[in-house]
Amino acid sequence: MRWLPFFLIFACLGRVKALADYPVQPIPFPQVQLTAGLWAARQATNRLVTLPFALEQLETSGRMKNFDLAAEVLRRRAGGETNFQIRPPTEFPFDDSDVFKAIEGASYCLTLQADPALAERLEVMIRRIAAAQEPDGYLYTWRTMHPDQPAHEWIGRERWVKDPELSHELYNLGHLFEAGVAHYQATGSRLLLDVCLKAAELLWRDFGDGEPRIAPGHQVIEMGLAKLYRVTNDKRWLTLARFFLECRGQGGRPYSQDHEPVVRQTRAVGHAVRANYLYSGMADVAALGGEAAYWQAVTRIWDDVVGTKLHLTGGCGARASGEAYGDAYELPHRCYNETCAAVAFLFWSHRMFLMTGEARYMDAFERTLYNGALSGVSLSGNRFFYPNPLESDGTYSRSPWFGCACCPPNILRLIASLGGYFYAVREDQLFVNLYGASRVKTELGGTTVTLEQDTDYPWHGTVRLRVHPERPVMFTLRLRIPGWVRGQPLPSDLYRYDDPTPAAWQVRLNGRLQALPVEQGYVGLRREWHPGEEVVLELPMPVRRVAGHPNIAATRGQVALERGPIVYAFEGLDNDGRVFDIVLPQTARIEPRFRADLLGGVTVLEIRDAQRAVRTADGQRATVPASLVAIPYATWANRGLSPMTVWVARDASVARPAPRPTPATRARLTASFARSGMSLEPIRDQLYPSDYPDGRAPQFDFWPRKGTLEWLQYEFPSPTRVQSVVVAWFDDTGTGECRLPASWRILYRDAEGQWQPVRSLDEYGLRKAEAVRVRFEPVTTEALRLEVQLRAGFSAGLYEWEVE
Ligand SMILES: [Zn+2]
Repeated sequence: MRWLPFFLIFACLGRVKALADYPVQPIPFPQVQLTAGLWAARQATNRLVTLPFALEQLETSGRMKNFDLAAEVLRRRAGGETNFQIRPPTEFPFDDSDVFKAIEGASYCLTLQADPALAERLEVMIRRIAAAQEPDGYLYTWRTMHPDQPAHEWIGRERWVKDPELSHELYNLGHLFEAGVAHYQATGSRLLLDVCLKAAELLWRDFGDGEPRIAPGHQVIEMGLAKLYRVTNDKRWLTLARFFLECRGQGGRPYSQDHEPVVRQTRAVGHAVRANYLYSGMADVAALGGEAAYWQAVTRIWDDVVGTKLHLTGGCGARASGEAYGDAYELPHRCYNETCAAVAFLFWSHRMFLMTGEARYMDAFERTLYNGALSGVSLSGNRFFYPNPLESDGTYSRSPWFGCACCPPNILRLIASLGGYFYAVREDQLFVNLYGASRVKTELGGTTVTLEQDTDYPWHGTVRLRVHPERPVMFTLRLRIPGWVRGQPLPSDLYRYDDPTPAAWQVRLNGRLQALPVEQGYVGLRREWHPGEEVVLELPMPVRRVAGHPNIAATRGQVALERGPIVYAFEGLDNDGRVFDIVLPQTARIEPRFRADLLGGVTVLEIRDAQRAVRTADGQRATVPASLVAIPYATWANRGLSPMTVWVARDASVARPAPRPTPATRARLTASFARSGMSLEPIRDQLYPSDYPDGRAPQFDFWPRKGTLEWLQYEFPSPTRVQSVVVAWFDDTGTGECRLPASWRILYRDAEGQWQPVRSLDEYGLRKAEAVRVRFEPVTTEALRLEVQLRAGFSAGLYEWEVE
């Protein structure tokens, strides 16, 4: 039996004394088989494609080689070459952590499916890691390789001192500990666990007396130490986890949540992955150490995120700058939402559930899982997103790997261990949190109970649960009734359904309808269970129209679509190439349809009697009828480049129609300079900040050029008579380096090919974001140029340059 080794390890290793821990205990993933449907398929791809792909990347990117080089330096220095050192060949001092995270994911895969070749490969990797560990337990290849001077500006002259900034020494160790515990539980081998313990002993020697007070710059060591404590029962590791939490708040930066003592923090701030790892670590220490103040703090902060900072997809960390949580309601469509932040939000929310037994935490978990986290990996399993925006102009695609490769192995370890989030136990209560075809085996009331879940969820809401106790046994089966069934997208007022009427969900026991109250988000069936008894849960899945809270600027006048736990998106590929002009009135008819042939088998939404906004010849707006298709958000960007949006207009006034034909739209557009990835197209889309509910219109800018003379140019297919231009300037004072330029003017190309200034009839005005019209004496020309003198020390940009 696949789950047996895990049981054995737990039994032997034992919780010699029962530790204080979460009141609700998850049923570990080795005891849960995902048997069919979406998650079985994604888990197979994860194991068969993502895992070998990630392991290969660790070699080709040089991350594994770092360990070999560090070992070589140790060897040669020990042999007398006291000046020998090697400059690290990779990019970041945290590259070690990707290796550890991938080993953790690989270990989970190994637990699910015996694979001697993989087990052997991991052992070889672990021996290479162990060889890079310094004799006193220090493991950080970037220093060991190059010990005489720091090989990176992030690294301090001495160990640990720059960890509060960016050295990531403790971050790497946190991931090492998680990997060591996973490998031990998967194989019973202490090979990596012993490396962990040697490093942990060093931490105890260096920090065990409460000095120096180093606040880890990138959290995860707290979660790692908690796992080490659980598996060894050695209280020192919990003491260290608490110590690293209590070091925070000595005047550090909000970026790393070091601005206030953790128990006084009330809002999610700063780097979102750091933040969510911190809150997970606080929850662990609260559960294991009985720290009520930590618990109160993370409860407040979770409510802050779910009340004001979570995108509809369950993604978080909206701001690209600092990869950070934004202010309350700062939820732009073109957001950052790192895959790792979503994965870390799952870790955190699951812990909140384990502490309380409240379904609201798993409601949020489910939203993030199916949408903002799952979007991070392609259907093929070997292409990844780092940011997960809710709107894209069609230039953003998934990557095979990243220079900073935190996200792919995070997805790997999440999907491999996903079964561990389905079920949980508290005394004689069995919680069913996630729905999906699966089989679980656990102990309840001294009896082994197998539960089989048969369903096509998330595409269909019928869930059939068959209970097989070894002998009749009394327990409570608690089934989560998701928020979306009850008419509430999240346990907050951040989003609401246009029609919040609860769907008519039903529970049948052995065919008989049950009248059951919902308590903390669950219905409970308490009885003596006999083999073969069956519960059928019906979760109707009407298509829901969603509105954002009025304080979310980006969603004003807009609507998004959901069905069951799935958030939908419109991709250009299914919609004649265009999505921003979509108008979805209340009268549109929406039909779900399962498409086995599409995107690995998904339910799409087919929409009739929708509209598109168009511009009439006189520049006014009108609508034309349209039929549309929406796909699950998580599956976008699997079929090539295409624009995408989650939110669409409720009426034409907030839609973004295609530009009407003008000399500008027909011209060849070039610039004196455009940085990589900077599109010129926004300047002729005829859209201004006033066309966006949050004012965030896309722009073109010349950054990082500053103080220079630059130009943009339209070349017309044939001589064209022109007599005015409209320009709107971009200025990002407060967040960037673009300002209104020093001056600008319009030139035309004469018959001899020389650039001549037009004779302007208006001033070359300079106003932020507003359209400025400049008329001039008409010229007939093949090309028009906008010349712009950037202000000294600043760059400049434009939202629009229209030509009439
Ligand atoms: Zn990441």
